[in-house]
Amino acid sequence: MTTKPTPLAIPDSVFEEVYREARRAFPFECCGWLSGARDGTSVTVVRKCVNAQESVTHPMTPERGAETAYVFTSPDLLDLNRSLDTAEPARIIYHSHPNGQAYLSETDRGVATSPWGDGPAYPVQQLVVGIDAQRLVEASLFDWSDEENGFVEISRDGGPQVYSPTLHCDPHAWGGSHSWG
Ligand SMILES: [Zn+2]
Repeated sequence: MTTKPTPLAIPDSVFEEVYREARRAFPFECCGWLSGARDGTSVTVVRKCVNAQESVTHPMTPERGAETAYVFTSPDLLDLNRSLDTAEPARIIYHSHPNGQAYLSETDRGVATSPWGDGPAYPVQQLVVGIDAQRLVEASLFDWSDEENGFVEISRDGGPQVYSPTLHCDPHAWGGSHSWG
């Protein structure tokens, strides 16, 4: 039996914190994860991470800036793995795109897929927040689909109605508890 992935609800306060992180990191990408009760339908806590790609000394891809990628540091990866065994595991991994577009790049898909290509690297959904210099543009949530053998978009929000002049992001316009309608 296949079950269609259900988007986890992201409370306003949590989403706002992610947006603030994305704004802080701009023009680099921020990254981290959102945790919540193991069998719950929403996330409750933001765990911010260091984007190792912001370091010019990153050994893997020194020619690429953080504008195009994010890489968790080893301590963060360790914590991420540890969280999976707790009552409040990581449920969503998030990162931002400073080009204002919310999508999973080929690199993103590679990072989020198990090295054997037979499932997700982690049992989590993937949130991508697209921002530009002024505002939140759009956000999209992805999850692994066995049928597609890859990540599929399960919810998307965006459009002019989400912008507030002060916050540049009005979480209430995103559907109250950000339940992804
Ligand atoms: Zn990305």
